[in-house]
Amino acid sequence: MTRAFNFCAGPAALPTAVLERAQQEMADWQGKGLSIMEMSHRSKEFVSVAEKAEQDLRDLMQIPDNYKVLFMQGGASSQFSMIPMNLLRGKGKADYICTGQWSKKAIAEAKRYCDVNIAATTEANNFTSAPSQDELTLSADAAYVHYCPNETIGGVKFDYIPDTGDVPLVADYSSAILSEDIDVSRFGMIYAGAQKNIGPAGLCVVIIREDLLADADAMLAGTPTMFSYKVAADNGSMYNTPPTYSWYLSGLVFEWLKQQGGVAAIADINRRKAQKLYDFIDGSDFYANPVAKHNRSIMNVPFTLKDAALDKTFLAESEAAGLLNLAGHRSVGGMRASIYNAVPEAGVDALIQFMAEFAAKSS
Ligand SMILES: *Cc1c(COP(=O)(O)O)cnc(C)c1O
Repeated sequence: MTRAFNFCAGPAALPTAVLERAQQEMADWQGKGLSIMEMSHRSKEFVSVAEKAEQDLRDLMQIPDNYKVLFMQGGASSQFSMIPMNLLRGKGKADYICTGQWSKKAIAEAKRYCDVNIAATTEANNFTSAPSQDELTLSADAAYVHYCPNETIGGVKFDYIPDTGDVPLVADYSSAILSEDIDVSRFGMIYAGAQKNIGPAGLCVVIIREDLLADADAMLAGTPTMFSYKVAADNGSMYNTPPTYSWYLSGLVFEWLKQQGGVAAIADINRRKAQKLYDFIDGSDFYANPVAKHNRSIMNVPFTLKDAALDKTFLAESEAAGLLNLAGHRSVGGMRASIYNAVPEAGVDALIQFMAEFAAKSS
């Protein structure tokens, strides 16, 4: 077996050890004579897998007891509608901070349901920074404040958690969950599509403070039952058949992360990986990254080549060298190396070496 280094933004690299374990258990899960995919989601076997996954995530993130953990479907994008449907609770307005393409998508969807106050936007500098706390224009009557702590496309990260007073803070943590320790109690709700730092695509993890679970009569009229956080919470995320295999595999990733020493340990590695790559880019006159230094993502590192005419050659040669999926998002071009938890430090070292050689022969 040869495993390339995969820098895809999502679906992204998974730990090889996790894939090997899943392979081992694929046809006959723990001697039961069937795969996890073929089991009832209500069997005691699957329920134990599901509960362990939740407990491991709670341990990893130190999630307080007054928060529910939901394993939902429809990716992170479905949350863009579920959030207003569940969290407006009779109010007509929400605050959104706009720092890039994912913020914009969340805002466009929220506008279908309520007045959106843009508390700050960095569009004027082409989304190359995050606003500071004193640049936020928050409304006292907002139902919640939404932001994206790590913009996956622009590679922009907040270096602080916004203070929103009593207004619940909602965070799209899709591309940075479990990459560094965060204080969950600062948030009303955290959500993350699984395919970046958790597991297979389709699953979305929602961590929500219990007092925000709206009853049916507090939901926006016409909200589908399947879109209710309270229904999901009351049914242990099994109101219908959940994506059992994705849930199981995410559980294996959580176990793996615990074996690595947990979030604090992986965060040290993540910061070191990112620092190396940014130092190399900053020290070169061939590559560039436009993001303000204190707002640089440690998960997604976009960069450009001195001459965009070399992009195609760079991509072809990096792929041939076993460094996959380095093309930037279709909306911005250039390159992007996503260096999530499962991308080993050796992958970053190999990338830097390739970039140095490419620059030397192309300059
Ligand atoms: C990938 C991503 C999404 C979209 O996730 P889907 O599961 O494809 O809906 C949303 N927000 C952020 C920050 C992302 O990185």
